[in-house]
Parts: sequence; C-alpha cells; structure tokens
Amino acid sequence: MDSETALTAPSRGTREPVREVLDRALSGEILGQDDALALIECPESDLVDLIAAAGELRDRGKGRDVTYSRKVFLPITNLCRDRCTYCTFRKDPGDPGAWTMTPDEISAWSRRGAELGCKEALMCLGDKPEVAFREFRETLRELGAGSTPEYVARACQLALAEGLLPHTNAGLMTREEMAMLRPHNASMGLMLENISPRLRARGGPHQWAPDKDPNLRMRMIEEAGELRIPFTSGILLGIGETPAERALSLLALRASHERHGHIQEVIVQNFRAKPDIPMASAPEPDDLDMVRALATARLVLGPRANVQAPPNLSPNQIEIFLRAGINDWGGISPLTKDYVNPESPWPHLERLAQRCDRAGFRLKQRLTIYPEYINDNWLDPAIAPTVRAMQARMAGEEKP
Ligand code: SF4
Repeated sequence: MDSETALTAPSRGTREPVREVLDRALSGEILGQDDALALIECPESDLVDLIAAAGELRDRGKGRDVTYSRKVFLPITNLCRDRCTYCTFRKDPGDPGAWTMTPDEISAWSRRGAELGCKEALMCLGDKPEVAFREFRETLRELGAGSTPEYVARACQLALAEGLLPHTNAGLMTREEMAMLRPHNASMGLMLENISPRLRARGGPHQWAPDKDPNLRMRMIEEAGELRIPFTSGILLGIGETPAERALSLLALRASHERHGHIQEVIVQNFRAKPDIPMASAPEPDDLDMVRALATARLVLGPRANVQAPPNLSPNQIEIFLRAGINDWGGISPLTKDYVNPESPWPHLERLAQRCDRAGFRLKQRLTIYPEYINDNWLDPAIAPTVRAMQARMAGEEKP
C-alpha cells in the first residue's frame, strides 16, 4: 500500500466483515488502512478469529521460536529536557536519584553483564539534557565529551571492550549524530510511541515534550533507514491515544520499512501506572487492548516482521500474547532492572522458557541485531567482525 495513505484520517465507511479481512491477510494480501482499523477495533465476538489468524501468520513467517536478547540496561544519564506525564525515569539535576554514569561504572556494569552471559548493552538516556541543564554541560566537560552523543559513543566503546554489543536509544538524534554512532552500535532504536500530533496538545502527555513530536520522530526513523541502521521502534499503548491512532502508527512504521527495509522489530508496549507520575491514576490498557494491538501488528506488518511485547509489563499474559502473533520478548536482564518500569521485574529466564515450552514455543536467545541484518548490507565494517564473532559464540552455547 502507498505509504502516504497510512497517514490520512481514518475513514469510517461501511466496514467489511473482520473475517474477510483476516482471509485476505492470510492469502498474502497487504492490508490497507480501513483493514487495520477494522482489526484493531474489532468486537469481542471476532477476537478468537483475530488471534488465530495472527498466530497462523506468525507461524508461517517465524515458526515457533520466540526470541529475547540478554542485556545490561545502562542508564547513561536520567537527566532529560522533556516531561512526558507517564515517565518515572527522568530527573532534573539535583533531584534525588539524578545520575550520569561514569566511565568506570559503564565498564564495571558491562563486565558483570558479560560474566552473566549478556550480549547486549542497552544505552538508554533522557533527551537532550545538555540543551536544558548547565550542570549537565559541565558534567560533559569534566568527562571530556563535547556532546551527549559523543559521550554515548564512548560508552559504546567501553561496552564493546567488555564483550557486549551496544544498542543505543538516546532519544531524538540528528542524521549526523546517528552516523557518528553507527560504527559503535549493532543496532539502534527510537520508539515512535504514537503518530498522533494530538498527544502534544495542551493537557496531553507530550505537551512538555518537544522531542515527542511525531513528525520529528518519523524523520529520524526515515534517516536511520537512509543510513542503513538496523532499527527498533514501536508504539506505546495507554497514553491517551485511540485504537485507530495505534493502527495508524503501525502503518506509518510499515511505510518507512517499505522504503528502507530497516525496521528490525516493532515493540507493542503497554503503559503502566506508577504512583509518582502525573498519570498515576490513568487507566492502564487492558489485556484485550494489548491483544488487539499485537494481533493487528502481526496482520498489518506481515509474517516476516518481528513483533515484540515486553514480558515484565504483562507477566500474566505470556501465553495469550504468544497466541496473538508475537515472536520476541525483547531485552531481558539478569543484572539490571528495567529503569523505565522499575516496579516490573524481569521474568526468570528458566521459568519463561518453561511457559513458552508449555505453550508450544521454544525460547531462544538472539543478539540485539536480528539475524537477517547480520550481513555487509547493514553492518558497519567497524563492528561487523565483533557481531559475527558473537553470533558464532552464541550458536555454540546450549542454554536459551
Ligand atoms: S519518556 Fe523519555 S523523553 Fe519522556 S520524559 Fe521520560 S526520559 Fe524524557
């Protein structure tokens, strides 16, 4: 389908029955905007068929292996110039818990992670702290870095030296910043969250978050494709968007992937309420919201897409999410907590493997970069030998 079509306002004409949309998806047809809306808004009476079709499409493209990446979560800095109303990660300088990791901390955490079998170092940080905070500009100077991305590049080198593959999610970056980080990263990422500009309006979750402008985020996702960076993106459910806006967001990601082929995985993440955020009393998306979004993602993105749900945010929904078409659980750490959702512990890997097994799936470890991107077309020559060596080493390991 034409990518521009994906961004037009949803039409509300006469709806084709959901069963017919599912049959067209299973026959290999690429679904359009009205199809995606019909699926994500389907009545409960169609849910069994929706889940079965999404599961069947996943089986055709991905089989019954479900993957995860064993990682260390490195919160390089939790200072952030934005103020998303659902965020518990960000801090101002001087706040209790405000923290920028030192090079020694980055090396020590990476080393410990590698000892525990981790392969990925997730570089996670707030958006553009140097623009907002004089204190952080001084910190960068003391660390000998000219900018936040430059310090992240150094963090990547430190993690690589300890045997981990970096994956950077540093928020909104320029083409030049991504190009500078490419040789030091196996893959990179930025959540789209949602394509709707409405969420930036007064009273919306992104009113005070200039870096959450969906046009800017789509531009970065496009530029990552132009730079041939294997890229992770996704949508965030439950921040005030409608189901139709979730579907339009999936279509926008698909359109970018059709142009560049670079979106290695699409995350469908659910908002979790926390006591210390402005959205503390906002309702969380329920299980059926997630199932509808996951199944729609699979059916819209196709059999070969990698569709991911974070298992720590829905510990009781492992089996239903597998049935609804996912093939990946994302990063799971034996060492560090999920700093974005610190109240949600990672699942124990052996127990997760058992649950997958009982549901008819095999849990398998993967690198941060998916196997289909481990080739000269996608890897920067500076990091390619390390990625290939790690891929060979992982293949020789027995445990998931
Ligand atoms: S969600 Fe990200 S961009 Fe928004 S306030 Fe938190 S750290 Fe900053």
